[in-house]
Amino acid sequence: MLGPSALRPGDRVAHLRGVQLLDGRTTDLTISGGTVVGTGTPPGADVDAEGWLAVTALGEPHAHLDKALTVDRGATRLNGLVEAVEQWHRMLPGIDGADISDRAGRALRQYTAAGVTAIRTHVDVPPDGDALRGLRALLELRDALADHLTIQVVPLISPATPLPVVEAAAKEGADLLGGVPHLAEDPAAETARLLDVAERAGLPLDLHTDETLDLTPGLDLADLADQVIARGFQHRVTASHCVRLSMLPPERLASTLDRVARAGIAVVVLPQTNLYLQGRDHGHSVPRGIAPVRPMLDAGITVAAGGDNLRDPFNAVGRGDPLETASLLVSAAHLHPHEALEAVTGGVRAALHLPAAGPADGAVADLLLVPVQSLTSLVAGPGDARVVLRAGTVLARTRTESATALPATAPAATGVPAHPRGPEGR
Ligand SMILES: [Zn+2]
Repeated sequence: MLGPSALRPGDRVAHLRGVQLLDGRTTDLTISGGTVVGTGTPPGADVDAEGWLAVTALGEPHAHLDKALTVDRGATRLNGLVEAVEQWHRMLPGIDGADISDRAGRALRQYTAAGVTAIRTHVDVPPDGDALRGLRALLELRDALADHLTIQVVPLISPATPLPVVEAAAKEGADLLGGVPHLAEDPAAETARLLDVAERAGLPLDLHTDETLDLTPGLDLADLADQVIARGFQHRVTASHCVRLSMLPPERLASTLDRVARAGIAVVVLPQTNLYLQGRDHGHSVPRGIAPVRPMLDAGITVAAGGDNLRDPFNAVGRGDPLETASLLVSAAHLHPHEALEAVTGGVRAALHLPAAGPADGAVADLLLVPVQSLTSLVAGPGDARVVLRAGTVLARTRTESATALPATAPAATGVPAHPRGPEGR
């Protein structure tokens, strides 16, 4: 009987025998029609998963595949958001659909190897030039890869994009409509314009909101919630970033989150890119620039976490791995590891409006298999082996090898310290 590490991409898995779950139980999983149909002990389990842990496959709720992997094309500069936008716009005229398609494909291989089976990507619809070239390239990729993973494409409307182009983008076959009201001169009017177009096109909305620490103007998110409630907007709404909320005093934050919860808006938090872009103009006491995740969870808001930019002018680093995002949520947003893992698994599926997945009866068999380890170790990542199933079929398999001259068991474990301890205990 094969073990998970012998599986190849494209193999269909019918049974996983002896796989461990996060609660410590060991079980067999039967997969039929892409769904987990039993956690009992079926006859003829065909994959011996003893020693492996199964968790819900990872998700990426907010990527920019059209920008991915461009950082090394220019002098590497450390940018705030405004400079990053300028640098990107200088690059954009030299970027065509084939270029976008190629880099997006490479980025997707990185995401899927990490364990991602569902991804939402924004794509620029610039005010001039062939405005829809990026959108068309990513829609083509979405359709070509539909058998392998779920890709949701969101045209990212610039406030300068003329209305006829916005309308054309909304009719091109995208999954949602997006935009950046906080970059508009009149953010509330830009939010209203995008809600109008989404309403006419029958599309859900995912807006970049409050991606700044400046509290001088009003809050995009509060305004979005009010407009959604006032017009009875019938489609799902997601707000991404929401960085400015971290600067609010508690009472104002609570009333804002209450409106967001009532409007049913899901929030996508993006710790890595926000840590990279925000706070550069603070000489000391630099704010973290991460949306207030704990109060959002306490308010009953659906929260998902993503990586946002991947090695481009907006974020020079990143490895396309939601476990890296989860790890940041633990260290920089003070979530418990189980909450952090939920934000990159179940939270993403909820925000993307996808059916529940994971090692449970009736769930879609999108699974990440890793060697048995603790939850904390999993979130710390990256680990040395991952097997990714999408609807019961192997999407990716990764194993990394390392060799070291050090003994497998550290001498300290047998009572002999590896290094003499100093007075500070290190
Ligand atoms: Zn973004």
